[in-house]
Amino acid sequence: MAIRFVTGNAGKVREARDYLAGIEPVEQIEYDYTEVQSDSLEEIAAHGAREAFEQLGGDEPVLVDDAGLFVDALGGFPGPYSAYVEDTVGVERLWRLAEAEENRRATFRTVLAYADEDGTETFAGSVAGTLVAPRGEGGFGYDPIFEYNGTTMAEMSTAEKNAISHRGRALATFAEWYAGRDE
Ligand code: IMP
Repeated sequence: MAIRFVTGNAGKVREARDYLAGIEPVEQIEYDYTEVQSDSLEEIAAHGAREAFEQLGGDEPVLVDDAGLFVDALGGFPGPYSAYVEDTVGVERLWRLAEAEENRRATFRTVLAYADEDGTETFAGSVAGTLVAPRGEGGFGYDPIFEYNGTTMAEMSTAEKNAISHRGRALATFAEWYAGRDE
C-alpha cells in the first residue's frame, strides 16, 4: 500500500522515495493541514498527520515531516519557525547572522509523523553540523549553509545526505518500525 507523503516540498519527497525504495511506494499529496502553533515539532507533525489522514479519506497511510534548523548561538533560532525565516529573511542572511558568532554549531531536526486507522506514531531524527557560507547546488532549504564533515548538504547526493541527515535518521527509525508493525 502506497504511503501518502503530505507536503509541498519536492526535496523531502525525493529523500523519502530514495530511502524507502523497495519498501513502499511514496505518493506526494498536497494538502494544507493546520500547523498548530507550538515549539514542539512532534506536536506539529502528529497533529498534521492525524488531520490529513482524517480529512483526505481513504485508507492509505499518511506521512508528514516537520523540520527545523536550530542554531546554538542564537538560542535555537529559527527552530520551529525555519520555514517562515527562509521565506522572509532567506538562507543567505541567516548565514550572515551566524557568521558574526564564534560558535557556528547548529542542529537540523525533523519529526516524521505517520497516521493510519490504528493511530499516529512519530519518529525523530537530528544531525549536528556547522554553518558555513553557502556552497553546492543540490538539496534544498538550508542545505547550502549546513556543513557536515567538511561537506555541505547541498554538495551531497540524495543518498549521501540520507546516510547522515536528520531526515535519513528519522526514515531509518520509521522503516524499522514499519517493517515490524504487524508482528
Ligand atoms: P518545514 O518542515 O517544511 O516546515 O520546513 C522548515 C524549514 O526547514 C523550511 O525552510 C525548509 O526549507 C527547511 N528544511 C527542512 N528540511 C530541510 C533539509 O533537509 N535541509 C535543508 N533545509 C530543510
